[in-house]
Amino acid sequence: MKIAAFLHQGQPGCGLVSPDMLSVQPFDLPLAQRELGAQSLIELQVRGEPLPALLVALNLSDVQLRAPLPRPRRNIFCVGKNYHAHAREFAGSGFDSSAKSGGEIPSDPIIFTKVPESVVGPGAAIAMPDASSAIDYEAELTIVIGKGGKGIRAADALGHVWGYTIINDVTARDWQSRHQQWHLGKSFDTFCPMGPWLVSADECDGTNTGVRCYVNGELRQNASTKDFIFDIPKLIETISAGITLYPGDLIATGTPVGVGIGFKPPKYLVAGDVVRVEIDGIGHLENPVR
Ligand code: MG
Repeated sequence: MKIAAFLHQGQPGCGLVSPDMLSVQPFDLPLAQRELGAQSLIELQVRGEPLPALLVALNLSDVQLRAPLPRPRRNIFCVGKNYHAHAREFAGSGFDSSAKSGGEIPSDPIIFTKVPESVVGPGAAIAMPDASSAIDYEAELTIVIGKGGKGIRAADALGHVWGYTIINDVTARDWQSRHQQWHLGKSFDTFCPMGPWLVSADECDGTNTGVRCYVNGELRQNASTKDFIFDIPKLIETISAGITLYPGDLIATGTPVGVGIGFKPPKYLVAGDVVRVEIDGIGHLENPVR
């Protein structure tokens, strides 16, 4: 199933996207739950309870999509350097403060987070900040946790995956490099476009899917998640070893080769650009830069 969060006539809703992706059937949910997108639906499914009744379908063209989890309950977990080709690209860019202490391929997953307030939905503007002009895009398959847990073994990890969505891990490269810890440069306001919806794991094989990014129609990133350095079970095992995971937690799995700093000279985002991320089995996420 695909679950979308949206605004219709100014009111938040959350619904089931039709297989032809032309309409959305809202769930009959109280306002407080609709405002949080798919969060309460994931929790219901984890508890084995039935989903709420469905209301009359709306044309997708008549609603404004929001991020499917518009305000995640806590920071979004993110993985740095998780594609072989991108790890080489990043190490050679001069921006990789983590590469100074070792080789270009990390021996263990690099995990950082983005604040929940950085999330914006499909079509929302990525705001060029005053504090940086070295703004870059990162197309990423993102895991949505279903059943939570701590100490999840890799062999059991896929059973904890509710499904997937798309995140553009927008980054201020100068801040990422200068401050060494990546949190600041990854968490600027609007730096976490998410969408267009959540797709359940039975409809998308995150372990083997295509990830692409276009800037103004130019193909910049084009890879398969088969090129991961650390696979999805390893990521879940690593994060949950000491931190309990909860339903609705998000793990952005890293970005492929082809980011702006991989070009010489770098191709940073500027106002007026449009970034489109496509992931096979999910859909596309498009955001303008303003
Ligand atoms: Mg990233």
